[in-house]
Amino acid sequence: MSRFRTLSVRALKSALVSSVCLASSAFAQDLRGTPAPVFLSGEDAHWGYSQTVSPQRWGELPGNAVCAAGLDQSPIALVTATATPQNHQDAPSFHYGTSRVRMTNNGHTVQFTYDVGSTLQVGGNTYHLAQFHFHTPSEHTKDGVEYPLEVHLVHTDAHGTPALVVGVLIQEGFVHPGLFTAFRHLPRHAGEHSQPAGALINASSLLPFNKAFYKYAGSLTTPPCTEGLQWYVMKNPIELSDSQIAAFQRLPYLNPNNRPLQPLNGRVVTTRHGH
Ligand SMILES: [Zn+2]
Repeated sequence: MSRFRTLSVRALKSALVSSVCLASSAFAQDLRGTPAPVFLSGEDAHWGYSQTVSPQRWGELPGNAVCAAGLDQSPIALVTATATPQNHQDAPSFHYGTSRVRMTNNGHTVQFTYDVGSTLQVGGNTYHLAQFHFHTPSEHTKDGVEYPLEVHLVHTDAHGTPALVVGVLIQEGFVHPGLFTAFRHLPRHAGEHSQPAGALINASSLLPFNKAFYKYAGSLTTPPCTEGLQWYVMKNPIELSDSQIAAFQRLPYLNPNNRPLQPLNGRVVTTRHGH
């Protein structure tokens, strides 16, 4: 039985208001610091990662048809040998500042809402870092390898619409100092918030030193699976300790929270070597 049936619709809406799962207006509202509206086709639908709400059935839910019918869906299997090397003139430049740590368990992931003012610039456009969140195991694979975690840094355009996501694969290794406090205070249950007093994070610490990446056109990996997103997935993973990875994987109902790989459907994945 789905745990979502034990939640009232109101509680679920409350839990979801600032999730990447949702459409653009939620981001706009959230960025302005005002309450997000109750809305959205996919929201009333009780989607998840198992049983009757599994990713294979998201497309049957009202408003989520693109999850099944879309041709540019994410995540995908990234394969170095078949990616097109490109001397991208449009390599992103990151201008991330420090943010308070503000976490929400929205029932699908733990989302860190980022303070306004951090940007990514690429191709003459500026995108705003709105939030980041985690998936376990990773959604993208690299050369056939699945990682224990993946973080998605979600950026909005000038209209507040999610437009560009940076994905970073996470492998087991050293403790990640930037997430030390946060991962000791992860909100455990849907609808819970956690804001450890004085805790700060700089999202730059979530990027590998080597900025080589894969780039492709994709979608939200959660309902309503909206397409038209630019994806940059870093080639090199970052590290979290085994206990940090376990802290996320032990959260009830969030393991797993990865959408299966989607067909490429002729899309071209480009790649740029690091610098
Ligand atoms: Zn995600």
